[in-house]
Amino acid sequence: MALKRRAARPTDIDIPMISIDKGDLPSPVIVPRSGHPVSRKLISENALKVLRRLNSQGYTAYLAGGAVRDILLGREPKDFDVVTNATPEEVKSIFRNAFLIGRRFRIAHIRFRAEIIEVSTFRALHEPETPDGDKAIQPVTEEDIKDSKRKPLEGRIHTEDGLILRDNVWGSPAEDALRRDFTVNTLFYNLRDFSIIDYAGGLEDLKKGKLRLIGDPEERYREDPVRMLRAVRFAAKLGFTIDGPSLVPIAQLKDHILSANSSRLYEELKKLWLSDEAEKGYQLMRTTGLFGVLFPETENWLDIEEGCYPHTFLGHAFQWIEDEMRSGREVSVPLLFAIILCGPIMAKAKSIQEAAGQKLPAIFPAVKEVVSGIQSRISIPRRDTEAIKGILYGEQRFPQIRGKRPFTWVKNPHFADAFRYFKMKNSLEGDGGELLAWWDKFLETAEPWSPPKRDYSRKSGRRRRPRKRTPAKKI
Ligand code: ATP
Ligand code: MG
Repeated sequence: MALKRRAARPTDIDIPMISIDKGDLPSPVIVPRSGHPVSRKLISENALKVLRRLNSQGYTAYLAGGAVRDILLGREPKDFDVVTNATPEEVKSIFRNAFLIGRRFRIAHIRFRAEIIEVSTFRALHEPETPDGDKAIQPVTEEDIKDSKRKPLEGRIHTEDGLILRDNVWGSPAEDALRRDFTVNTLFYNLRDFSIIDYAGGLEDLKKGKLRLIGDPEERYREDPVRMLRAVRFAAKLGFTIDGPSLVPIAQLKDHILSANSSRLYEELKKLWLSDEAEKGYQLMRTTGLFGVLFPETENWLDIEEGCYPHTFLGHAFQWIEDEMRSGREVSVPLLFAIILCGPIMAKAKSIQEAAGQKLPAIFPAVKEVVSGIQSRISIPRRDTEAIKGILYGEQRFPQIRGKRPFTWVKNPHFADAFRYFKMKNSLEGDGGELLAWWDKFLETAEPWSPPKRDYSRKSGRRRRPRKRTPAKKI
């Protein structure tokens, strides 16, 4: 990573540097409590407990990453991460409620009743490594949690394809800050003196509303292509502009996103789109070209005009997601993917139907085909695929309002999401009003359906012979 040397600035506290002494690392800017708005009241009590305990045991420990950034911006942080010079094993020995996660990149989760505080150890700067990028400072995925049952790998190891992987190699706070992605994500908060520690000019960029990658952007994107997606995510979330030199390489490198770990893409996309800025995130994904690379099926569908009009459904649907999220009505992951993929899935369902001369669009095989095409890029769990099927199947189920059908459909586990999807789609397309009104009324008034008296489970005409009672044993 090409890191520019910055002029040393005066510091008013001593930042303990551990283990590796890198001559060309910058000195931090340290902003005392009087110069910033981060107060303890804005930090989770559990995170404060962790910081206090580590400090009292003689370790350096800072609040890091998104939490410091968000508090400085007047936003409520989603979670509170801590970095320290204690190794994961040391953290475990200090906290009874600590669990070590990850194998190649060991971190500690301190579990409290309603919150997990993630504690990672300062990592060393190192060369580009796997397509997974710098996992040490990435959010933990389900895969990592499964992996944590196995013995941790120590120090430097090799990847399956022989690349040298330097993972559980600890470093200094400066190194840890500089291996993060954007300058605004590198800020540390020191509970010892309530100061903010800035190694990369993050405070300046925060003021300017700028997202700037640390080091050479092209190199950093190649090192970990997920950072392109993160640039879009933070631009949408924070309302920041992506700095020119960090934006330009995305056009050229966008295809590299396909080499990223598919679970990480799934996690990042969820964060990007199940948010208050879903629509903005969608537009940015399209203008950067990342959407077309990750969802070529939908991109092709969007390119096909229908009745001389381009498809505008998706933009409106993302606006709907955004409005729902803002009103506190969570949108589920399958519903999100059903919305993104419904265009190509319904087109495929129709073509299968026509080829087979069937009466109705073949939704199930179409979901299977389109989703399995996407699985190699984004790891959509099986349970989500089943739910996507259920949601889109509603297109066929909602018109069936006779007899017991509405009663059985209501009991389907995917009914609630299917109904939300059906309602949203109808409201955007401006039709189906009557059917919707029927369903609204039905859901308000319907008594639970009970089967008719006759027992249809028996074959007609045959009466079951009464079961022979086994006589009680004589003693
Ligand atoms: P949010 O709260 O929206 O998730 P965040 O900044 O906390 O924002 P996370 O994805 O939780 O984002 O990551 C936590 C921190 O880890 C980031 O602030 C950043 O410093 C670092 N980080 C995460 N992913 C990467 C990456 N791919 N490359 C470098 N640093 C990263
Ligand atoms: Mg976070």
